[in-house]
Amino acid sequence: MTRTVLVTGGAGYVGSHCCKAFAEAGWKVVVYDNLSRGWREFVRWGELEQGDLLDSEALDRAFAKHKPDAVAHFAALAYVGESVEKPGMYYENNTLGTVRLLDAMAKAGCDKIIFSSTCATYGVPEKMPMTEDMSQNPINPYGMSKLFVEKVLDDYEVAHGIRSVKLRYFNAAGASPDGEVGERHEPETHLIPLCIEGVLNDTFKLTVFGDDFDTRDGTCVRDYIHVMDLADAHLKALDYLFDGGTSEAFNLGTGTGTTVMEIVHAVERVTGKPVPRSIGPRRAGDPPALVASADKAESILGWKPVQSDVDSVIETAYNWHLKEVERKKAAVS
Ligand code: UDP
Repeated sequence: MTRTVLVTGGAGYVGSHCCKAFAEAGWKVVVYDNLSRGWREFVRWGELEQGDLLDSEALDRAFAKHKPDAVAHFAALAYVGESVEKPGMYYENNTLGTVRLLDAMAKAGCDKIIFSSTCATYGVPEKMPMTEDMSQNPINPYGMSKLFVEKVLDDYEVAHGIRSVKLRYFNAAGASPDGEVGERHEPETHLIPLCIEGVLNDTFKLTVFGDDFDTRDGTCVRDYIHVMDLADAHLKALDYLFDGGTSEAFNLGTGTGTTVMEIVHAVERVTGKPVPRSIGPRRAGDPPALVASADKAESILGWKPVQSDVDSVIETAYNWHLKEVERKKAAVS
């Protein structure tokens, strides 16, 4: 029997790659997305129900129509800087929006959810690599809006029997290797796409945010995880819940940290072109290092990243951005 998964935010970056993986694994996919930050052309693996998380009636209609067996919840605002300037927008969309979604699930009797959480829920880590039992003290409203959801999920399990898997992503990166979908943010703020922009666009220069951190080359260390490895973790998390697994949180990272300058050099190596750059001040709220321990996801979900070596991440991202350049050219001609 084919199972249906309702994917909120399925028109976004991680959501669309997961839709592809779900569909390829035999799931019927329904995307629920307001297209405020997502892209209609990224909805390629299931029907689109255009709606907002805050619109309870639209949610109820989608649940009544599609009777999903589970929800994968990606829809969220995800710019740290914006969350500092507009915290209300983040708590409303990310936290209250999830409350509305959970109410619709409870009403419809849908009792399994995979939630896109983040390493930003930890704040400045007390140890490295980071394990799931560490204290969570977010240092910006984005991380706090996601941490609240983690707590709300536990309350909805007690009240309504909804089991959840919280997946705390580290730095999602890369694109589908077949070029069917990739990363598109407007504005783009992430390191790897910006390095590639530097390679492709003569007028763009990367600013490295700080080179005086206490790290091996002075620049920030992050744990870059290929978006297709993330998608595989979601599939395994769905299977885990259908096998009766209890609610859990898992870090999704590789366990290996890479500095900003190591990424810059890797982009130069993979593309064979220089990344123009200058050193700027630190960005507010950037911890020096964030590296996951992914042991729990491996031991309980049987998940291990298989395509997250830095060169594979960059190669797939670069090929996608080359296609994006062609698309933009075609759009203006
Ligand atoms: N970064 C940078 N210049 C940029 C964008 C990012 O030096 O223009 C650094 C940033 O300070 C962080 C790393 O690259 O240490 C990854 O940042 P990104 O925004 O990609 O992801 P985040 O870690 O914020 O989720």
